[in-house]
Amino acid sequence: MSTFRYARLAPVLILTVALGTASAQTHVTAPPNKYKPADDVKLGQEAAAQVQKELPLLNDGSVDEYVAGIGQRLVRVIPAEYQHPEFRYTFRVVNQKEINAFALPGGPMFLNRGMIEAARDEGEIAGVMAHELSHVLLRHGTAQATKGEKFQIGAIAGQVLGAIVGGTAGSIIANGSNLGLSTYFMKFSREYESQADILGVQLMSRAGYNPQSMANMFKTLAAQGGGGPEFLSDHPNPGNREQRIQQEAKMLNATNNPYGNTAEFQRVQGRLKGMSPALTAKQIEQQSQSRGTTGTAGTTARQVNVEPPSGSLRTYSPNNAMRVSVPANWSPVESGGSSVTYAPQGAYFQGDNGGSAFTHGVEVGVAQGTGNLQNDTNSLLRSFAQSNPQLQQSGNARNENVGGRSGITVQLANVSEVTGQPEYISLSTTELRNGGLLYVIGVAPRNEAGTYDTAFRKVRQNIQISDR
Ligand SMILES: [Zn+2]
Repeated sequence: MSTFRYARLAPVLILTVALGTASAQTHVTAPPNKYKPADDVKLGQEAAAQVQKELPLLNDGSVDEYVAGIGQRLVRVIPAEYQHPEFRYTFRVVNQKEINAFALPGGPMFLNRGMIEAARDEGEIAGVMAHELSHVLLRHGTAQATKGEKFQIGAIAGQVLGAIVGGTAGSIIANGSNLGLSTYFMKFSREYESQADILGVQLMSRAGYNPQSMANMFKTLAAQGGGGPEFLSDHPNPGNREQRIQQEAKMLNATNNPYGNTAEFQRVQGRLKGMSPALTAKQIEQQSQSRGTTGTAGTTARQVNVEPPSGSLRTYSPNNAMRVSVPANWSPVESGGSSVTYAPQGAYFQGDNGGSAFTHGVEVGVAQGTGNLQNDTNSLLRSFAQSNPQLQQSGNARNENVGGRSGITVQLANVSEVTGQPEYISLSTTELRNGGLLYVIGVAPRNEAGTYDTAFRKVRQNIQISDR
């Protein structure tokens, strides 16, 4: 995947470098950093999992896709000097009213819905994202930790900090990197802010946007004033911010860049207007308290926030005899000797006892069989029931093809050990030529069964088996 991306990019980069020599630009040097890029990734992933548990994601495929499209446009033009192959850039929208955005080390970025609603054109959204992305590329979080400074923790939403500072911070901090939470929820120094502005302008310019939009967005933010946007307190003005952005844009000859998908921008803003209003930080905090999850994550019922299954598929080869295609936003989270589990981000949990569970996704595996599909499926069901006491069959078994072979699909009801909520399970089986039983278990919360059943069907129908 990444090989393909870089291979395709090469001619574009050469062209950009050639243009770059014709016009001046400020060179931004990433600050000294004693951590490995892999540390950024690890920290960012842990924090992102926490954020997804605590903040209400909008989970609107159409809005997410639009924002991710802007993000990818910026990611595609990251100069070689700032590329980190380990980083993985994701873009999610939080259903929160306050105008804010934040990015975590290694790539996960979150934009508040209020930010998208306040923007006056796509360039303004791109401006904020380019600024955030620049903090990630320059590895400012771990760079600041390198300096050993004490950080002031910026407010994202009270309950996130509450939860992390309370219950689970220990596990995040104890994970070997010794960086701690402050690294990603901090206010950046003015020096780093200036770097993120300048590199952000360069990214915008390379992506075809007019960097003036970034200056405009900062103006929009400042105009909110009062108890105004968190964003400006997390990203303080390094001084003459707008002038400096404009100056860099002129050096790049980018002030007339035309890009910005106006039709899509208007469609997305219209779509947001049609939804019930975004939640305020206060409402989010209240909801979190009434859920009782603050500070207690990891003990009992957890809130799980997972993005819906992508419509496109990604294919994996867990072994030589099989190819498994799953929604492109799922990835392998666990593979044992005879099975592999694919799940979206935020849906996989490991317990203290060494066990694990997933709330959304599929497990594909091979069990011992006798060659009799019906009997083998029943034995498999009995063995699942032993470890899942609340498991019940909820419909008749039906014949349905699995990987082009005749198979059986059974629907089951269970109670999730992660959330304590009802869950939907579909079990599909088919015989392998060596007498083994291939099974595909789909798991989803019961109230999302409709959406996920479509994904499970695609997975079982698209499995390719070559077991001669
Ligand atoms: Zn910043």
